[in-house]
Amino acid sequence: AEKAYQFMIRSRIPGGALTAEQYLVQDDLSERYGNQTMRITTRQSFQLHGILKGNIHATIHKINESLLSTLAACGDVNRNVMACPAPVSSRAQAQIQEIAHKLAMHLAPKSSAYHEIWVDGEKVHSSEDTDETVEPMYGQTYLPRKFKVGVAYPGDNCIDVFTQDIGFVARVEDEQLVGFTVVIGGGMGATHGKKDTFPRLGNPLADVTVEQVLKVAETIITVQRDYGDRANRRHARMKYVVEERGIPWFRQQVEERLGYQLSDPSEVHFHDVDHHLGWHQQFDGKWFLGLHVENGRLKDTETLRLKSGLRTVIQEFRPNIRLTPQQNILLIDIPSEQRAAIEARLQEFGIMTDPEAIGAYRYAMACPALPTCGLAVAEAERALPGVVKQLETNLNELGLAGEKISFRMTGCPNGCARPYMGDVGFVGRSKDLYNVHVGGDWQNTRLNTVYAQNVNVKDIPALLQPLFTLWRDERQSGEEGFGDFCHRVGIEQLKERVTAQPAA
Ligand code: SF4
Repeated sequence: AEKAYQFMIRSRIPGGALTAEQYLVQDDLSERYGNQTMRITTRQSFQLHGILKGNIHATIHKINESLLSTLAACGDVNRNVMACPAPVSSRAQAQIQEIAHKLAMHLAPKSSAYHEIWVDGEKVHSSEDTDETVEPMYGQTYLPRKFKVGVAYPGDNCIDVFTQDIGFVARVEDEQLVGFTVVIGGGMGATHGKKDTFPRLGNPLADVTVEQVLKVAETIITVQRDYGDRANRRHARMKYVVEERGIPWFRQQVEERLGYQLSDPSEVHFHDVDHHLGWHQQFDGKWFLGLHVENGRLKDTETLRLKSGLRTVIQEFRPNIRLTPQQNILLIDIPSEQRAAIEARLQEFGIMTDPEAIGAYRYAMACPALPTCGLAVAEAERALPGVVKQLETNLNELGLAGEKISFRMTGCPNGCARPYMGDVGFVGRSKDLYNVHVGGDWQNTRLNTVYAQNVNVKDIPALLQPLFTLWRDERQSGEEGFGDFCHRVGIEQLKERVTAQPAA
């Protein structure tokens, strides 16, 4: 008999935007064919785990029937396009969602094979050697590696724009969207022990108008298609082309292919990473509610029936949905008169709506790692809650309760939860051992740095304790963030200071 192979199926959900009906299809599939949980990914899509081989076709077919797709959620093509998910302040913010959707459609493979196999169940074209098999942008051999695009709202770097292959940072004047600053060459993945692989921040390339966005994105992708490393997959992301050839060369390539000059990039500033939790009024007068989802895992436990509660509320009130880059969920477009009823219904399932009640895990993020990711060498999703709980106890004892510190953990150096950004990163080396990074910043504009290698998970709180103490006693103007403090003092100096500290 054939082995019971299990698969993960990831949907493409640009900007994390779903209708209530699309959400309920995913929920239904996870119950029927999956492991009864759903996972919101760090790129604002859903992963369903535990799909048996014999149920793959039915699952993908259903996803397509709901007008979502799994096309280009994996593979050496453009992946799920990210966008700031919150319809908070202006029409411009909603336009950003629309542009993310257009980018996703424009950059999707045009091959008919996906539809032949997964949607219609029969061939729609006779394929071989006809023009339909040629991808106009990707060509015969697609890209050297996966490709990531994100669209940010000005000031709020919730999509981690410097980690994208192409990041578009909106420029808004008088609440009108006037264009974007394009940032290229970011990426998180690295391989332990391989010096030619590293996490990298994107660099500003140019300013573009709203009308230029699709063509410029496509043209940048063709440069990576033609110059990306096809011999070594570990060195194949566009960040290495940008690093090795430089921004002026890259810009010249893009301009030659476009046939016109690009404008110089504006300066990009971020003052926050908004997790969009709690109740907020939208620009149209309706409301949205951001709910925290630990590591993006929607499931039921004895005390918190998150999955059932969301299903019930979404069935009853039919809000639109947004998945966030921090793996949380927003219920949006809620009329004022429904607020109290939604709140009461969520409470029946143990779901808290007050973000202040979450504690330190509010700003933590882990990738799935073991047991579902084949590349994992260490725990992440199952280990980080315990680590952060202990860190929170220690921070409280130091009088640092409620401080904003971003903790990120991954089970390997690929960096799916973007551990090289943010205040503190834990990167799995092998079973129970992690490299501990500090010195990123809250706004995700700086890479953090390795502070200690191969730290056993149970030793992490003791390792960080003296750094928290130094920060509490010496932070500038009483406000300096933990990552900013570590960066200012410097890794070597931090180590010396800790060694010189009297034992507690
Ligand atoms: Fe990504 Fe590595 Fe985590 Fe797997 S273990 S999800 S590849 S970071």
